[in-house]
Amino acid sequence: MNPSFDPNSLRKDLFIDGVWRKAAGAATFTVENPATQEVIAEVADGGPGDALLAIRAAGRAQAQWATSTPRARADILRRAFDLVVANTDRLAAIMTAEMGKPLAEAKGEVAYGAEFLRWFSEEALRIGGDLTTSADGNTRILISKEPVGPCVLVTPWNFPLAMGTRKIAPAIAAGCTMVFKPAELTPLTALALVDIFQQAGLPDGVLNVVTTSAPADVVGSWMNSGIARKVSFTGSTGVGKILLSQAAENVMRSSMELGGNAPFIVLADADVERAVEGAMMAKMRNMGEACTAANRFFVHRTLVAEFEEKLAKRMSELKVGNGAIAGTEVGPLIEQAGLDKVEGLVADAVARGARVVTGGFRPEGPGYFYSPTVLTDVPLDAKLMSTEIFGPVAAITPFDSEDEVVRLANDTVWGLVGYVFTENVDKAMRFSSALEVGMVGLNTGLVSNPAAPFGGVKQSGLGREGGKMGIDEFLEYKYTAIAT
Ligand code: NAD
Repeated sequence: MNPSFDPNSLRKDLFIDGVWRKAAGAATFTVENPATQEVIAEVADGGPGDALLAIRAAGRAQAQWATSTPRARADILRRAFDLVVANTDRLAAIMTAEMGKPLAEAKGEVAYGAEFLRWFSEEALRIGGDLTTSADGNTRILISKEPVGPCVLVTPWNFPLAMGTRKIAPAIAAGCTMVFKPAELTPLTALALVDIFQQAGLPDGVLNVVTTSAPADVVGSWMNSGIARKVSFTGSTGVGKILLSQAAENVMRSSMELGGNAPFIVLADADVERAVEGAMMAKMRNMGEACTAANRFFVHRTLVAEFEEKLAKRMSELKVGNGAIAGTEVGPLIEQAGLDKVEGLVADAVARGARVVTGGFRPEGPGYFYSPTVLTDVPLDAKLMSTEIFGPVAAITPFDSEDEVVRLANDTVWGLVGYVFTENVDKAMRFSSALEVGMVGLNTGLVSNPAAPFGGVKQSGLGREGGKMGIDEFLEYKYTAIAT
C-alpha cells in the first residue's frame, strides 16, 4: 500500500528549454488517485503563453539537433532505457497512484514503454537512404531522410508512460525536437519520464513539456504556431478529428492513434480454454481501458454456453481493489465519467435483452470501481456494440456463419485490432485478411509489441508506431538531383 515514491520528489512543473519552471501566474491543477479519490499532487497548469515558450524552444533547438550524430541520439535513448528500467518500482508506483492500474500491470507497462527506447536507440543508426539513376541515365538520384522538424506530441491517460515513449523515442532517433502534452489525468508519470531524459543528457530544447487543464488552448496554439511541422496524437477519435482539421489548416504531417471497437471472434473449431485465456488478456488488461480492448465478443453458437461459463468464472475470481495493494488484479476506472459511461452501457444492454452472467455492479466505497462483468445474448442494437466500453465488461453475441461474423466484425467505423480464435490455419489466414483492421491477434489476446507496427485503419487512425516503420513517421524524404 505504501507508495514507493516520495510525493515530495515528484516533478510538477513545466519543462521548457531545459529548465523546470512554474506556469504563468503559478497556476496549478490537481491530480487525483482514482482508487481513493484523494489528491496526490498539484501540477503546473500551463496556458497559451507557456505553450508559446515551449514551441519556440523546440523551434530554436531543431537545426542543431538535426545535425547531431545518430550515435549520439542512440546513446541518449539507451541511457534513458537503462534509467527507466532502473526506476521501474518508482515509475510503476507513480503510475498506479495516478492512473489506478495494479502495480504488476504498471511494472509491465514500464518494461513495455522502456522497450521503445531500446528499440529506437537501435533504429536511430539505420535510417539510411538511397541512390539510383534516372531512366535516361542523365541524373543520379540521391535520396536522403531528414527529420520532419518540431513535433507536437499529445498522449492519453490509459498508458501514461508507454504512449509517451512510443512517440518520444522515434522522434529523438529521427532528430526531431518536440513539445509534449501528457493527459491532465496522469501527468506525473510523464513528468518523471521527462526528468529521466534530462538525466540521460538530452540537449535543452529538444523535449519540452507543458501540462495543462486546458488542452485545446495549449495544443491549439502549437498547431497554429507556424513552427510545428508534425502532430502525433494518441487519444479519442473525436479529438483526433479536431487535430486533423488543425493539421489540414497548417498542412502538417499527422500520425493518429485513435479509438477502437475490437471484435473478438471465437470460431466453431476454437480451443475454448485458449480463447478464454486470450479473452482475459484482451478484455481485462488495464481494466478494459485500452484502445486494443476486445469490445464485442462474437462466439459461435455451439460454444457460447461453455465460453461464457468459463469466462465468467475467471472474471468473478479476479481481485478488485486499490492497485497499490499486493495481489490486486483489477484497479478502479480512471474517473467518475468513465464509471458512469460503463454503468450506462451495461444498463442499456440489459434493457435491450442482454443477460448478466457475472458482475454488473459497482462495489461500495470510494474509488471508481466496477465489477468484472460478462454479458451474454447482447443484441446488435445495444449501444456498447458501437461505443468503446473502456471498462471491464465482456459483451457476448452468438453467431452462426463465418460470413455473418465477418460482416458483423467489420460493421463499425473503427478498425484498430481484431482477435480470432481457431485451430484451422486456413480460416485463420482468411479472417486475418477479411477483417478491416490494422492488427490481428490470431489465438492471442495481446498484439502490442515494440517490434511491430501498431496502428489502425478507418477511424482508428493514420500511421504506425513501433517496428521498422515507426521512425518513418518522423522522417521526410529529400531528393537531390545530381547531373552525371
Ligand atoms: P482524449 O482524446 O480525451 O485525450 C487524449 C489527449 O488529448 C489528452 O492529452 C487530452 O488532454 C488531449 N485533448 C483533449 N481535448 C483536446 C483538444 N481539443 N485539443 C487538443 N488536445 C486535446 O482521450 P483519452 O480519454 O485520454 O484516451 C482514451 C482514448 O484514447 C480512447 O478512445 C482510446 O481508444 C484512445 N487510445 C488509442 C490508442 C491507440 O494507440 N490507438 C492508445 C491508447 C488510447
